[in-house]
Amino acid sequence: MEQKSMGTIRVGAVVLAGGKGRRMNSKIQKQYLLLAGKPLVLYSLEAFEHSPVDEVVLVVGAGEVCSAQEQIVGQYHLQKVTAVVEGGQERYHSVYAGLQALQGCDYILIHDGARPLLTDGIIRRAIQGAIDYQACAAGMPVKDTIKESSSSGFAVRTPDRTRLWQVQTPQAFAGPLIRSAYGWLLQDESRQNGITDDAMVVERYGGPAVKLVEGSYANIKVTTPEDMAVAKALLGI
Ligand code: C5P
Repeated sequence: MEQKSMGTIRVGAVVLAGGKGRRMNSKIQKQYLLLAGKPLVLYSLEAFEHSPVDEVVLVVGAGEVCSAQEQIVGQYHLQKVTAVVEGGQERYHSVYAGLQALQGCDYILIHDGARPLLTDGIIRRAIQGAIDYQACAAGMPVKDTIKESSSSGFAVRTPDRTRLWQVQTPQAFAGPLIRSAYGWLLQDESRQNGITDDAMVVERYGGPAVKLVEGSYANIKVTTPEDMAVAKALLGI
């Protein structure tokens, strides 16, 4: 990516497809399930391919590096994917593996490969958020009222809805910041409890406040079988 005011900056992306996708109830890993004839993970890889991102690292499950390299990167001629690496037990292990393979980037986007409705607009807003604030996450204000429940399933608290967001990916960061934050996280297991996204790693690390940038209500994470039908409808195919 070329930015006239800042000289040349290099932007990388980590695309995560190393999860087991157990809630999908399918023998095929969900990232390879076909959505309108294409593997699910290919949608976000193609969005990055046609975006200002310079380099992409794809993270896959154990034993899947060769097949992903051939059947996804090779078959669909993805020029920006510079490495396919094996992820780990938890999402944060997979992110760490991706960051290790992505050296020398000024800004890094981290994206769930299970979100096929990624757009160029979201990618650009995430990059700009990282440039302006060092750390940002795509998301949208919630529409529903959210309740916190007790362990027995009773509502115990109703947070002010006007300030609640549902957070998505991509999440984007200054390269040195996200590397340091993940290095710190991986040093000590006691820091890892309950980590579900990258913004949380930066928050726990004590990094800069994470700016929330506009994602899209369509930018869903395909998690259960019915999400495939929703994604297909949203793609209009
Ligand atoms: O499990 P969750 O829904 O949070 O997964 C979000 C994304 O992270 C998915 O794209 C999944 O493939 C990826 N993931 C991963 N490695 C793991 C767990 C999840 O790459 N160990």
